[in-house]
Amino acid sequence: MDKQPDNKEFDAIIVGSGPSGATIARELSKRKKSVLILERGDNAPLKEGFRMASIVNTVSVSDNLATSKAFTAGGTTAIYFAVADFPPLENFLSLGIDISREVEEAKRELPLAVLPDELLGAQAKKVRDSAMELGYPWKKNTMLVDLSKCASGYNYEAKWNARSYLQEAVKEGTTLIYRARVIKALVEKNRAIGVEYKLQKGKKEFEVCRAFGTKIVLAAGATVSPIILRDSGMKNVATSGFYCHPNFAVFGAVSGLKAGENFVASMGARLEDDIGLGDANLARAFYRMFMLGNRRFIRAFFHSKSIGVGVMVKEGLGGGLQEDGRYYKQLKKEDLRKLEKGEKIARQILQNAGGKHIFKSPLSAGHLGGAIRINEHLDNSLQTEYSNLHVCDGSVIPDNVKVSPMLTLICLGKYLANQLSLSL
Ligand SMILES: Cc1cc2nc3c(=O)[nH]c(=O)nc-3n(C[C@H](O)[C@H](O)[C@H](O)COP(=O)(O)OP(=O)(O)OC[C@H]3O[C@@H](n4cnc5c(N)ncnc54)[C@H](O)[C@@H]3O)c2cc1C
Repeated sequence: MDKQPDNKEFDAIIVGSGPSGATIARELSKRKKSVLILERGDNAPLKEGFRMASIVNTVSVSDNLATSKAFTAGGTTAIYFAVADFPPLENFLSLGIDISREVEEAKRELPLAVLPDELLGAQAKKVRDSAMELGYPWKKNTMLVDLSKCASGYNYEAKWNARSYLQEAVKEGTTLIYRARVIKALVEKNRAIGVEYKLQKGKKEFEVCRAFGTKIVLAAGATVSPIILRDSGMKNVATSGFYCHPNFAVFGAVSGLKAGENFVASMGARLEDDIGLGDANLARAFYRMFMLGNRRFIRAFFHSKSIGVGVMVKEGLGGGLQEDGRYYKQLKKEDLRKLEKGEKIARQILQNAGGKHIFKSPLSAGHLGGAIRINEHLDNSLQTEYSNLHVCDGSVIPDNVKVSPMLTLICLGKYLANQLSLSL
């Protein structure tokens, strides 16, 4: 108990090494601030395949509806699709947050690219051609993919991963402790002074430790940070509810198709009513994991013939965080109606592409957020009611920011690092 790494007080302690946490650590350590990152997972090498399942954490958010996150160095970038939507600046400006400079910086630093046609798999092309023939506005997405690593086609390693920012932070002097699960922030007279965490020593063995710092940033992800906040004493977390972007994919099989690998989600269409359609042609290893996880044992071995369309509805706030620490919300009838409408269109696209044996995967939750609200739980430097305690991860993205969150999280991380630097 009370063990302090190196017996020192850090300028900043960051909880979690996902895209936001890694970005903040990188930015602060480049400015020679002393930074400690506490990361619950470890840094086992990432390789597409079944071992990936061991880092996936599933959190239930409704009846038969759960969201997935990765507990590992770099957070959920280990399993994300690499779609990079630009943050809507005006939504943040209306909250007193100007991230235009950070967006420009991110554009200069990150491998942002629209995939050339040569990198689209045969499945993606089949789905695109069918969707366009039916009149849906199927467009390519900007992706966080380094094209220089794609000389031989699809490459998991070409997707940007927050581990690269983490490595830079460590090179600049950041202290990184793995298998350190933060339980709560330590608050004294309404001021955060450190965190308490459980350091895993063996399979069932852990040590309770404390670390102290001037600024504390929770970046443990959209499902975890609200719980840490609540366990640190904040009373009103998730009082306005949360969103979870329910989604599923519809798959068909096309006889004679000989597809190879594919960057999933590189294309899609946004329809009215906040219904999004996307390419759901997963790379082979992820496809197998997905099909076996959904008990589609035979389909798991027909990747080359499979085509898929994803459907996501970006719904409003609802539900909340219950006493027992579980999230719960019930989807509204209108959201269910939108999901049905999306399914109909997805089936139409697959049938038009020659797809047979069509089936729908179970509903899951996508990007969870809205549980912590800027101007309600946080001020515009992402600070809570406790001074020096900040939150920066998926939990703070407002419900009207209906884009894929990765680029927004990186820009918010840069923004918060700029804010913290002003007083460190
Ligand atoms: C399958 C899938 C595909 C996706 N595809 C895309 C996409 O294409 N584009 C996009 O923009 N978004 C995508 N997302 C969403 C995106 O990955 C997440 O929104 C983003 O990673 C969230 O970042 P974060 O920093 O909030 O949390 P995370 O990335 O989840 O990082 C949180 C970190 O905190 C650590 N942690 C958790 N609890 C604790 C604790 N108590 N103490 C210490 N550390 C802790 C975790 O291990 C993790 O490293 C996808 C998500 C999934 C699941």
